[in-house]
Amino acid sequence: MKKKFLIICLIFTAIIAFANITQASEYRSEVSVGIKYGSNSGNSVTLSSQGGLTVYDAAVGTVLYQAQIGEELYIEMGSTGFASWNKFDASGILKLSVQPPQGTTLVCDGKEYRGYIYIEKCTDGTLLVVNYVGTDDYVASVLGKEMSYTWPKEALKAQSVCARNYVLTRTGAHKNYGFDVCPTTHCQVYGGVASEHENTRAAVNETKGILGYHNDKVAELFFFATSGGQTEDVKNVWGSSIDYLKSVPDTYENPEKASKYKWNITLTKEEVEKKLSDAGVNIGTLNNITVDSKSDSGRVLKMTFHGSDGTHSVQREKCRTILGLYSQKFSIYPDSVLSIITTSGEVKAPLFACSSEGTFGVAGFSVISENSAISQLNINPTGSVEKYAIDGGGYGHGVGMSQWGARGMAENGFGYEEILKHYFTGLELR
Ligand SMILES: [Zn+2]
Repeated sequence: MKKKFLIICLIFTAIIAFANITQASEYRSEVSVGIKYGSNSGNSVTLSSQGGLTVYDAAVGTVLYQAQIGEELYIEMGSTGFASWNKFDASGILKLSVQPPQGTTLVCDGKEYRGYIYIEKCTDGTLLVVNYVGTDDYVASVLGKEMSYTWPKEALKAQSVCARNYVLTRTGAHKNYGFDVCPTTHCQVYGGVASEHENTRAAVNETKGILGYHNDKVAELFFFATSGGQTEDVKNVWGSSIDYLKSVPDTYENPEKASKYKWNITLTKEEVEKKLSDAGVNIGTLNNITVDSKSDSGRVLKMTFHGSDGTHSVQREKCRTILGLYSQKFSIYPDSVLSIITTSGEVKAPLFACSSEGTFGVAGFSVISENSAISQLNINPTGSVEKYAIDGGGYGHGVGMSQWGARGMAENGFGYEEILKHYFTGLELR
């Protein structure tokens, strides 16, 4: 009986050990960034390195060419594979790997990168250029673009955990091309060596290997610039609920400094019509826009465009993106026009109605005057609004960590773990 118990204990220990190994493997020491891909990737790439370069056939690992220090390689796609004029013929070879010596960098199309470059002629005939780079090198570069090296270290450390988690959980976005992330705001902005700094490097080193977990799974740590005072629950932006992406107060953003803490813009009827048409929405002449519901944090959940040929409603994040606004937290004030027709002509002026709820535009009725000087008083006889004043707060999607809030918390003495645990409900760091 004792023996049986011991065996069960051993099996249980083995299961726990295996679980730890599986968990640890979620950290990868290398990530891949798509530098050129798709229909506008061209058909050539230029490479060089101050340490020299070795060109491999990536399918079998044989060396095709050894470039000298500073020697520039112009690699071009041919009809059956690759070639570098006067240097090597790689016709029939569809996958190349170009590597500088360990510890040196290379220059690809004028930009300096760590790691190495993978080049492929894809089955659809397009060129694919991917930078394989150490995860921490990648994060040190992203920090310089997504924050600034001048920001407080604890904010940079919080951002480095977000960037590390993000790249390691972003597995689906570019899977057609087989790389993890692109170098733009679509994923995370990555500038190669140029955007690294000793401060970003220090923030990465001091959080080395640390990831944020929720229920033992690596969490998706989203971030954005400014919340305007309160972050948003993910379900009000992207639709589905995630336990650690809830709305939290964001009291340390500095209203004077934080980017777009408050903002206001004016859009003309024509500008809105153009944005609707760009989004494939056709409702004829735009008459008005109404905000139909808002979240507790003040972000618009549903709005409706009213046109001569129908209406079109949008929800959640689309309320921001369809108009190209800084954030989803805004109010719209239709700016009606009062038109006074007198014996000497027509005079136009904006007209607002005021109530305890605030100021809003008026449209769609007319007054006939008996005064001989004013023959007619029209308030938008067509019923349409000419301009929309939009007042808002915050910059970005509002889900997860506010960068300006993280900066404010760091300036007020909070450490990076406290910052992350504030923005991500129930987050564990290890
Ligand atoms: Zn991307």
